Amino acid sequence: ESQLNPNYSFENFLEGDSNRLARSAGLAVASKPGGTSFNPLLIFGGVGLGKTHLAHAIGVDIKDKYPEKTVLYISAEKFTQQYIDSVKKNNRNDFIHFYQIIDVLIIDDVQFLSGKTGTQDVFFHIFNHLHQNGKQVILTSDKAPVDMQDIEQRLLSRFKWGLSAELQTPDFETRVSILKNKLYRDGVDMPEDIIEYVAKNIKSNVRELEGAIISLIAQSSFNKKEITLDLARIIVEKFVKNTKREVSIDYIQKVVSDYFQMDIDTLQSKTRKRHIVQARQLAMFFAKKFTKASLASIGSQIGKRDHATVLHACKTVDNLSTTDKQFRKYVDDITKKLSV
Ligand code: ADP
Ligand code: MG
Repeated sequence: ESQLNPNYSFENFLEGDSNRLARSAGLAVASKPGGTSFNPLLIFGGVGLGKTHLAHAIGVDIKDKYPEKTVLYISAEKFTQQYIDSVKKNNRNDFIHFYQIIDVLIIDDVQFLSGKTGTQDVFFHIFNHLHQNGKQVILTSDKAPVDMQDIEQRLLSRFKWGLSAELQTPDFETRVSILKNKLYRDGVDMPEDIIEYVAKNIKSNVRELEGAIISLIAQSSFNKKEITLDLARIIVEKFVKNTKREVSIDYIQKVVSDYFQMDIDTLQSKTRKRHIVQARQLAMFFAKKFTKASLASIGSQIGKRDHATVLHACKTVDNLSTTDKQFRKYVDDITKKLSV
């Protein structure tokens, strides 16, 4: 019903300098939902740093303390989809009403709303209603509000009403305790030096940290071998290699043009032919998504376009991928190719 995952609890969310503020703000909100100045509570930070986990933990704790309260967790993507469906089915008002009677609304990855003006608009009204009635709103995002693009100003200003708390990359000690806690829960014994080796070498992402440990355990049980430092070295090396390989704009252009069986010159050309324009827009979209390059720099590398063209391309891809099934498939296929 509430879509909450009970494993994502506060107990399992290990504390460290990197998350202390966000974690304690979460605890404060959980003990007095709607009754603190942390409304909305916005948790932001990079991939795999625990945003989803912490958001669930708050909801799980509230459900525990206040069983009568309605708590709902939903990703911004699913929220958007529901909204679009409600418009199609002519029951936009039911959609709004459903959300307005919730006591605690948790929306994950609100950066997904960028460029989606219809959904932003409806969320604005829901937010205002909840806030005025003392209901708690919890949001997560991969960026701080100041860095969010294509979110309406009035919504951004609401995001800043409460508290924005950042999840940073955990330090070594916290990484070790996260691993130990996970091993303990899974009932696996692992020598201290191996745990430390993994924690020392995988730094930027808790999901990968856990992934490395999981594949270490799997490898050893599959090959009926002991977990040794040598085995740990091999697995960690694989993980580090995979994450270091930053996707470049050149590589993105190659993958996209291969996918549509055209060459890069065609992709970059001035033509207005629809399928070429779409391929170019996809390349821009993925460059924005997978690299840290600015819009201007992306534009100059993909056929010498300006930043407005890139911005427009990103919006177009966002829109088409929610309204056009075939296009959605392009996005999913290329995402897969870029992620391996
Ligand atoms: P995000 O939503 O920021 O991408 P997630 O919440 O999905 O990240 O976290 C990725 C994984 O790391 C999850 O399995 C989560 O349980 C784990 N994790 C992240 N931070 C912590 C922490 N402080 N303690 C324990 N596990 C954590
Ligand atoms: Mg998440």
